[in-house]
Amino acid sequence: MLATFTSACHEAANSESEPMNDVVMSSYSVTVFCGSSAGVDPLYAANAKKLGEGLASHGMNMVFGGGNVGLMGITASAALAAGAHVTGIIPDFLRQREVEFHGLSELIVTDSMHTRKRRLFALGDVFVVLPGGLGTYDETFEILTWKQLGRHDKPIILCDILGWAQPFLAMVTQTVERGFAKPNVLEMFEMQPSVAATLARLDELRSSNLQS
Ligand code: AMP
Repeated sequence: MLATFTSACHEAANSESEPMNDVVMSSYSVTVFCGSSAGVDPLYAANAKKLGEGLASHGMNMVFGGGNVGLMGITASAALAAGAHVTGIIPDFLRQREVEFHGLSELIVTDSMHTRKRRLFALGDVFVVLPGGLGTYDETFEILTWKQLGRHDKPIILCDILGWAQPFLAMVTQTVERGFAKPNVLEMFEMQPSVAATLARLDELRSSNLQS
C-alpha cells in the first residue's frame, strides 16, 4: 500500500468494481491527455499554455497525468497560475520519471497505470486531447474503445493544433472503410481546429450538462 502524503495527495482505489462514472467534483472537470514531451514546434507549447489559461478563465477544473514534463506540465502550470483547480493523477513508479508536479491543488498517487487511467477517466466530465506521443494515443484509444463498448458517453475532443490529429482521424476513417469498425465510431469523438474553438465547445457542453 502507498503512504498518504498530504491531505491533497491521496491514494486511489484499485478496484475493477469501481463505478465508471464516479464524478466527485461538483463543477465542470476537463481531463486533458497530452504529451510528456513538448514537440518540436513552439506552437505546441504556446497552445497548451493557452488551453490551461482558458480552462481557468472559463471556471473549469483540470485533471491530468500529474507530471511536470512536456505539454502536461505546461498546461497544468498555466491552469494553476491562472487560478484553476488542477488534479494530477500519477502512478507511484512514474513520480520521478515524469517529475511529479509539486503545488497542484490535488495530487493522487496510484499503484498502477491502470488505476491512473480509471481515475483520469472517472474524474473528467469531458476529455480534451492535445498533441502527444504513444501514451497520449493509448489514453485516447482507451476512452474511445470504452465508449464504443457503451461503458460511457462522455465527449472526447481532439484539439487539432498544427493538424497533429489528422493522421488519427485518417486511421480511424480507414478502419471504418475497411470494415473493422462501425461508422458510428466517427461520431464518438470530435475534432476542434484550435484552443479557442475547443474552449467554446467546452462551454456548450457544460451548458448542456447543466440542463440535463
Ligand atoms: P506520451 O504521449 O507518450 O508523451 O505520454 C503521455 C502520458 O501518457 C504520460 O503521462 C505517460 O505516462 C502516459 N502513458 C504512457 N504510456 C502509457 C500507457 N501504455 N498507458 C497509459 N498511459 C500511458
